[in-house]
Amino acid sequence: MQFDDIRHCRVTPAQGCIRIGEREYDPEDSLRLNAPFGSIPVSVLADALKPYTLLSGGECQPQAAILVYQVTGRLEALTHYFPLLRILDERQQIEFHARLQQLAGSYELRVVMKGLPEDTTFSEAPEGVRILAAGHILEVFFFQPEMLARFFKSRRSFWVYPDRQAYQAAGGAGGGSYHPLLRCIRLYMQRFFEGFYGAMPGQAPFLHELGHMLEHFNSRRGLMLLGNRLLPGMLESDGSLFNPEARILFLEGKRLEKERYLDWSSHSEAGRGPMPLGSPYVFQSDSEFIAGYFEMFFRNPHAFADKNITLYRAFERLFGWDPRQAWEQDFDVYVRSNRLAYESGKPLKTAGLT
Ligand SMILES: [Zn+2]
Repeated sequence: MQFDDIRHCRVTPAQGCIRIGEREYDPEDSLRLNAPFGSIPVSVLADALKPYTLLSGGECQPQAAILVYQVTGRLEALTHYFPLLRILDERQQIEFHARLQQLAGSYELRVVMKGLPEDTTFSEAPEGVRILAAGHILEVFFFQPEMLARFFKSRRSFWVYPDRQAYQAAGGAGGGSYHPLLRCIRLYMQRFFEGFYGAMPGQAPFLHELGHMLEHFNSRRGLMLLGNRLLPGMLESDGSLFNPEARILFLEGKRLEKERYLDWSSHSEAGRGPMPLGSPYVFQSDSEFIAGYFEMFFRNPHAFADKNITLYRAFERLFGWDPRQAWEQDFDVYVRSNRLAYESGKPLKTAGLT
């Protein structure tokens, strides 16, 4: 059996055992996967699945890829989640793996259950959630270790809600958010997995919220503070991390997107220039702008670069790598739905960007 054939499949409990995609497996079976994964007893995969199912009442449905990673420890399984791994050489992959494991143990992952106070911490959060959060962060910062070190100088906190009820009971909106007072990302657990049921990654709510979090990060003091309206590395006070080129590119690129948005908000069809890349939603505030374009940089880099190479280069300079190398083709759902939003002719809200 080829790992590539099952990596995206959801794994769910079935009577007496598990189902991978549409197929049920017997607890006595083994999956004989191609190298380097080898043979994996189904009962071992079933044990790895249990914490997700028990905590979430079945709402959280991890892919086979993360469970295969958990039971084999083979980094290759995580290529399903992190396209950067496709372009790292062998030495860099080893480094990625070592740093991933170190990072995964270095932050607080709080599992918040319904009916329990939010300060109740469960240590038995599913291992895969911890790995995915760390992996997203490392994918962003792999080529910026100093920025990463500053980000983790103080203990960072991520809160996950295993089921929708728990998230709603906590007043959570939209399935995820960055909470500026609690200074943490809060996310409904299944949202870690929802974008990974295809051959390439899709929606990445954690990345979006990480964009918000970084916008609030003061790299000089190593603290989560008020929004900067910029990313770390774009402020003079960032010291050795300050990247003036990225700052200039960002401001120029943002101005261009804003002009396009204003143009689309105010002109008749005949007078309209190019459409903005981001959805109307991200033009409501500086923080949404950063979160939205930050996520698109890691999901539809080709369309992003084609549309606004100046803004694209700002992110590329800042993080030190070009996701186009890892993405043969964009995840283009955002691009298409954003285009539809502008073409619908619905009135656009006033931009809240500075
Ligand atoms: Zn947002």
